[in-house]
Amino acid sequence: MAKHQFQTEIGQLLKLMTHSLYSNKEIFIRELVSNSSDAIDKFNYLQLTDENFKEDNWTGKINVNLDEADGSLTIGDNGLGMNEDDLINHLGTIAKSGTKSFVESLTGDAKKDSNLIGQFGVGFYSVFMVADKVDVITKKAGEDQAYMFSTDGTGEFEIKPVTKEEHGTVVYIKLKEEEKEFLSKWRTQEVIKKYSNHIAYPIMMHFSEDETTGEGDDAVTTKVKKSEQANAATALWTLSKSELKKDDYIEFYKTLSHGDDEPLTYLHNKVEGAQEFTTLFYIPKTAPMDLYRADYQSAVKLYVKRVFITDDDKELLPTYLRFVKGIIDSEDLPLNVSREILQENRILANIKQNATKKILQAIKKLKDEDATTFTEQYNKVIKEGIFQDHTNKELLLEIVKYKSSTEDGMVSLDDYISRGDSEKKEIYYITGEDEKVLRNSPLLEAYKKANIEVLILDDKEIDEIVTPSIGTFKEWALKDITTIDAPDSKTEEEKEEISKEFKSLTDRIKEALGEEVKEVKTTSRLTSSPSCVVKDANDPMAGMAHMFAQMGQEMPETPLILEVNPEHAMIQKLDKLEDATRFADMAWILLDSAKLSEGIEPKDKSAFASRIAKVATEAL
Ligand code: ADP
Repeated sequence: MAKHQFQTEIGQLLKLMTHSLYSNKEIFIRELVSNSSDAIDKFNYLQLTDENFKEDNWTGKINVNLDEADGSLTIGDNGLGMNEDDLINHLGTIAKSGTKSFVESLTGDAKKDSNLIGQFGVGFYSVFMVADKVDVITKKAGEDQAYMFSTDGTGEFEIKPVTKEEHGTVVYIKLKEEEKEFLSKWRTQEVIKKYSNHIAYPIMMHFSEDETTGEGDDAVTTKVKKSEQANAATALWTLSKSELKKDDYIEFYKTLSHGDDEPLTYLHNKVEGAQEFTTLFYIPKTAPMDLYRADYQSAVKLYVKRVFITDDDKELLPTYLRFVKGIIDSEDLPLNVSREILQENRILANIKQNATKKILQAIKKLKDEDATTFTEQYNKVIKEGIFQDHTNKELLLEIVKYKSSTEDGMVSLDDYISRGDSEKKEIYYITGEDEKVLRNSPLLEAYKKANIEVLILDDKEIDEIVTPSIGTFKEWALKDITTIDAPDSKTEEEKEEISKEFKSLTDRIKEALGEEVKEVKTTSRLTSSPSCVVKDANDPMAGMAHMFAQMGQEMPETPLILEVNPEHAMIQKLDKLEDATRFADMAWILLDSAKLSEGIEPKDKSAFASRIAKVATEAL
């Protein structure tokens, strides 16, 4: 017999299970049943594809045994089973990096926390919400020796060899005194129906019931052993839509997501014809915790003719749809598909294309509060999609939403178009880090004056890369307002005239600032500010941010153009200022404060501050 210590994180987890999570204890049944179902899936696949594991009369089955006299509940399966190493690696350690973030993400709200348990793949330990002691008796398919793993949920576990006939796993749970409700047939059946009704294998319940024979004084009551199937045992997605109600879909979602939340929406499709497949997808109400982790877990399971193949293939859907949970069941793929084949399979590519379109259409149909929730949770990944998925670009552009200079909340590009100038067909936007800075940017002044809507894009790191790659949407050109002339009522000749009039001033400013700016010129885009900085649209680097991103490099800084407002008193006075030192100070202040208004740091912050102090002193 060998004693082992649990890995530290498991120790923490066990403490949490036994002391903090007291609501929703029933989910331990869902978690153990789901583990059994996974193990049966794995063996089923083996016995169908590998001669060595062929078993003629095998069918997957889960047994739930209630023993009132013993105060115990056992959940068993005839699945793949575990050997000694598996027990140590799968039950004694948490391999997945997600666990640390699980422990970190706990809110202290017991109900929410127990919902998180399944998400992080630590389901087995939920048994310690109800157990005093747990024995896992298991034998791996194809091996001779069976083992028993025992623990009371404190820091240690023991493993010893035992005998067991059939491969598979039996989890024996000695219930805590106060958790005896799970010995009731009704209670346990209710939990199984609620969470595991559409687990594809039969869940047989074994229990004893009082049975009375004879009448009156002759009546004798004896305990009689009985068995009943507790679940429907049909893979839900194989049923036709007309047989299913919304509640059925929602219950199945709970099984799939190991949670208690309802999905935002779901879509179930059967495709027949040259290729046959069924898909059932769900969009969760809240984005998964690992949405932005490189090692995110795929939540789509691939089946071939109802045989589970994998839940670890990130290629089944485009990466930007990694928040979608669900099932793909193909009739055409061979059962023994290898990973390599999956990668370049035409059948799968076709399913992926079809599924992507259907999912995007379902998202587009979301209304009101649901649409708002979707945008809050997933707008950023939709932007990733715009960049990655050229086939569905138009559909994605109909889904994505942006902040606006004239409207509250988030607006779609279709909304924008419906309000915009249909002669000009231009969609204006400005990108940056900080919404407030963007809204107060001097560059918006002319648009505000002319009452023209500008989209405010404040997901800088993604918007700056994605938006320039859009080009047009329904023939409307997207324009970064920092690279184009602003709307105004002046003619080209008038602008030329003003530019000439102020040429000596702009030349002097350029001379004072040297290489810090590419050019200095007059502008009519400003009303209340004296100056602003814009990007040079003719710079060869402009609009290349996405190329740098693709190469995994930072975009080199592009030189800025300083524009001054000839109608502003400061500019007019500066034009007459002769003192060269004061002129240079003012030129730098014009540049640095214009940069600050766009959220760009001045090159030398302390020099900026001392110039301001100097000028302010003179003014007082
Ligand atoms: P998850 O099921 O999310 O991986 P668990 O903590 O519930 O997390 O289980 C950990 C691992 O233990 C499983 O991934 C599986 O490898 C193994 N395991 C658990 N229960 C069984 C079982 N009934 N049969 C075979 N293996 C099992």
